[in-house]
Amino acid sequence: MIRLRLKTSIVYILSIAFILALMKFTNIVKYNLPYTMVKSYFVYVNEMNRYEQLVFDKKGGAFSNVEHPNEEDELYVIIIGESNNREHMGLYGYYRQTNPLLKKISTELVLYKDVISPHANTISSLSKVLTLGNYEMPEMKFKGLIFQLFNKAEFETYWLSNQEPIGTHETGITKLTKSADKRFFVNSKSNRKKSPFDDMIFTPLAKILQEKANKKFIIIQLLGSHVDYANRYPPDYNKFTETPLTDFKNKTAYTQINAYDNSILYTDFIISQVIEKVKNTKIKSYVLYFSDHGEDVYKASNKAFHAEDYKSKYMYEIPFLLWRSEKFINNTNNLVFDINRKYMTDDLIYSIADLSNIKFDEFVAKKSLFNNKFEYRKRIILDSLNYDTFF
Ligand SMILES: [Zn+2]
Repeated sequence: MIRLRLKTSIVYILSIAFILALMKFTNIVKYNLPYTMVKSYFVYVNEMNRYEQLVFDKKGGAFSNVEHPNEEDELYVIIIGESNNREHMGLYGYYRQTNPLLKKISTELVLYKDVISPHANTISSLSKVLTLGNYEMPEMKFKGLIFQLFNKAEFETYWLSNQEPIGTHETGITKLTKSADKRFFVNSKSNRKKSPFDDMIFTPLAKILQEKANKKFIIIQLLGSHVDYANRYPPDYNKFTETPLTDFKNKTAYTQINAYDNSILYTDFIISQVIEKVKNTKIKSYVLYFSDHGEDVYKASNKAFHAEDYKSKYMYEIPFLLWRSEKFINNTNNLVFDINRKYMTDDLIYSIADLSNIKFDEFVAKKSLFNNKFEYRKRIILDSLNYDTFF
């Protein structure tokens, strides 16, 4: 009897294994929803646990012998935009002036022409941008986080976000930001819905700027141009209402493109305000703005979206601009600011370390956009596509 049961069980297990193997080799598995869901769930739980273990030590991470001079006050700010395709920015030559305020201070900006994101969605992209993980070594994202590096360099570190802290897409990022000294979440609504506008960040930002610490590192995450675009700006910014230039002649396209451009116009206001507030402190400082990824707004097809499965360059092309205070400019002659360098932001942690004069044993000079030893590296997206030759 027992033997018979054992036999039946083996037959069952072998059959399931055979079906799964067949599905995998025939590629059916890719489209099998229950399988994908179960697999994604386990991957997700595993990732969460690994991040949890990592952020437990705020001064941990694979950064040895971290060194940073302690001579003067410093204030370094990174603004991460949301779904901002640079081609819709007046600063980058868009036919509509969606950056009137940044344009006024354009001589103070270093505007990089060819920077791309490693992925076309927030979580995949930022889990590389904010960690040691990159395309060649994605697992390194569990080995070191940008806040851990700055904590080790004796900075006070802050995460200030207008994106929902708990949600299917943002949870991994929320987890890794636990390594910051202080976190401020100004939005508890779903990202897609009508949420608070990005100006919500100004109150906590003012509070942070007043804090006593003499070395501050702040990362601000905007809601920027997240769908639905029309929910991202107050009525005063509903400026672009005429029929836009597009190959797709339909009313939905016109409405969406206009709303998208208005959201970029509002982001122009937010970035300019942050720069002004930082500038007013007169501390040695920089503000770096880039987007988590781009967005295809009625360019390659008759819709506006971002998704990894679609091979659209608009989902990867991001703005990347740097503002530096006078004190910063006068004290960083060793850095190189070449706007034509082709860069992918999965190696950004090395650039930020370099820009902030933080040294550590594992630093790789050729991966830093601002280093004279910088080397162009193939920009691989979607596992094997060479961005520079494919598009
Ligand atoms: Zn995003």
